[in-house]
Amino acid sequence: MEYEKQKIDAGIGKKGMPKPLHEMSEKERMERAARIRIGSEIIAYAEGFMRKEGFAQMLPVLLSPITDPLWPDPAAGIYKRLEVDIYGTTVRTMHSMIVHKLVGTSLLMDRFFVVSPNIRLEKPERAATGRHLFEFSQMDFEAQGYSAADIRSLIERMLHGLVEHVGKVMDEEFSEIGAEAPKFGIPFKVYERAELEKEYGVDWEEELPKHISEPAWIVDLPREFYDYEDPKTHKWDNFDLYLPKRGELVTGALREFEYDKMLSKMESAGVKKELYSLLLELAKEGRIKQSAGAGIGMERLIAWITDAPHVGDVQVFPKVPGIVYDL
Ligand code: ASP
Ligand code: MG
Repeated sequence: MEYEKQKIDAGIGKKGMPKPLHEMSEKERMERAARIRIGSEIIAYAEGFMRKEGFAQMLPVLLSPITDPLWPDPAAGIYKRLEVDIYGTTVRTMHSMIVHKLVGTSLLMDRFFVVSPNIRLEKPERAATGRHLFEFSQMDFEAQGYSAADIRSLIERMLHGLVEHVGKVMDEEFSEIGAEAPKFGIPFKVYERAELEKEYGVDWEEELPKHISEPAWIVDLPREFYDYEDPKTHKWDNFDLYLPKRGELVTGALREFEYDKMLSKMESAGVKKELYSLLLELAKEGRIKQSAGAGIGMERLIAWITDAPHVGDVQVFPKVPGIVYDL
């Protein structure tokens, strides 16, 4: 089969890789179904939580001239960016709705969230990391008047309530997969990125998950122009949440909103500013207001809670980098 050939091309051994439905055994299908049912409950809980916190749910945007540059971000390993012409204009498939979030919270409403399907064509070598997909969904949200710490605390409360809830209502599914919902206390520990570099070197992203037993925040990560950087200290008011053994689950930040800063960061990062001209124009007119927000990788969240070997094991139709499945 074509899919087998692609797996071999991607250097993937069969063991441990998510299979398409028609190649799964009865037992494997039962486990996939249990994970999907728990995942469904997780999505519903997370959406309900956000609504209770005063966030309005919007439906996702998939094609737009503007999307997340995903640059410079050491966590992004994109091998190809998808562009297509529609109605005479070049649009891109959504990497993330970050710019939509900045404009939406500035011009329409204080707080919204979206369960946003993102396409990030990760390098095929990332197939076996167990945490990369080329199509995934994130719970992406943004709020006016929130600090980065407010967003971190909201996520801690959500995750805490979430594991308690699914542990209770999904006990049958958990016993089908022989797993238990993870246990942890909040607030999570906060690490400075510089501290981790000192302790583990430049590969701290790979090392840290081996040394933590509960989720932990990492703050001050130099990356894309839209995260806030203190002009004096050059510290970034942003964060990632790392899970034991699994690595990154969440990325978020307080945002830049000033024209000059965004422009100079784009220039120094080599990001094409003409692609962000609307955002820059609005910022120049003072119409972009400062917000904070984050994105939670939903497949990673479900895979962690259901102890899945690979994030593709919580997708009905897996989208593992390097493999084009039939469905
Ligand atoms: N949506 C961003 C991302 O995809 C996360 C954020 O909101 O900062 O990385
Ligand atoms: Mg990230």
